[in-house]
Amino acid sequence: MFLSSGDLYHRYRPAACDLRLYLYRLGVESGESSPYEGVIRRLGQHHERAHLATFGNALDLSAGTPAERRQRTLNAIQDGVPVIYQPLFQGTARLSGVDCDLGGAPDFLIRENGGYVIRDVKLSRRINGRDHPEILWQLRLYGRLYELAAGPPPLRLEVFTGTGEIVVVEPLDAPTLDAELSGMAGVIGADAPPFEPVGWSKCGRCGYQVRCWKEAEDTHSVALIPKVDQGMVSALRDAGINSYDELLAQIRCCRPGGVEARVGRTASQDRQRDRHRHSALRPRSSHKHNDPDRAATDSRV
Ligand code: SF4
Repeated sequence: MFLSSGDLYHRYRPAACDLRLYLYRLGVESGESSPYEGVIRRLGQHHERAHLATFGNALDLSAGTPAERRQRTLNAIQDGVPVIYQPLFQGTARLSGVDCDLGGAPDFLIRENGGYVIRDVKLSRRINGRDHPEILWQLRLYGRLYELAAGPPPLRLEVFTGTGEIVVVEPLDAPTLDAELSGMAGVIGADAPPFEPVGWSKCGRCGYQVRCWKEAEDTHSVALIPKVDQGMVSALRDAGINSYDELLAQIRCCRPGGVEARVGRTASQDRQRDRHRHSALRPRSSHKHNDPDRAATDSRV
């Protein structure tokens, strides 16, 4: 199996979801990216080029086949080239008893005190585990790949942020990083998709939003009920309740008085009461998720 820094991105952006990683690696086509995402991509490229220009003497390894780039990366490290742009690494690690190929391309290797600093350029302003876990994991993977290729670990892991700051990312010990990579390998290699309920903010900017929301609507998922959060969906699932029909049936059975309380009511009274309850459980529409203006106002980049 091959795992790359791109897999980490798909696992965590725009929100953490193993199903997105699973579908992406399965080759399931996602929806078209929004105009907002196109603008963000171009801004990110501009930000990276502007940072590259500040070095002047960087060795650019962005062109060539993967094999050529990998070899030229190793040569440049051995030669002690001061600044290497777009190096490419590949290595093998044993994850959960299986040999996995790991790959990744940090933006820069910067020579310092006889070693190298790994630096990635991001448009994001907040580099932390809550806002951008994928960035931390990507940098740590690069560190691991560098070590596999060059021997000693990198001197530091850094991010050049959208505000022009340098943020240092703390490395992790190998078992912790391996646990994350093993988790991804488990998701990708599974026979069935992981359970991931849809969620309002979770799915809003995901490329699979239309697909997943339709499935949730088709199956009457409890995740569509307003104010039912992801934890509650999981708890209901553990209790054998997946649809709002099942939930409604459960409510009818378990309310005070139980089945006996129905004695004496007419069928028409029952139908009227059920209509009222169905309306209270009416799922939210997914249409707002397609509103690019909503995405454009999201400042978490
Ligand atoms: S739409 Fe939601 S559930 Fe589906 S893959 Fe995306 S984030 Fe996950």
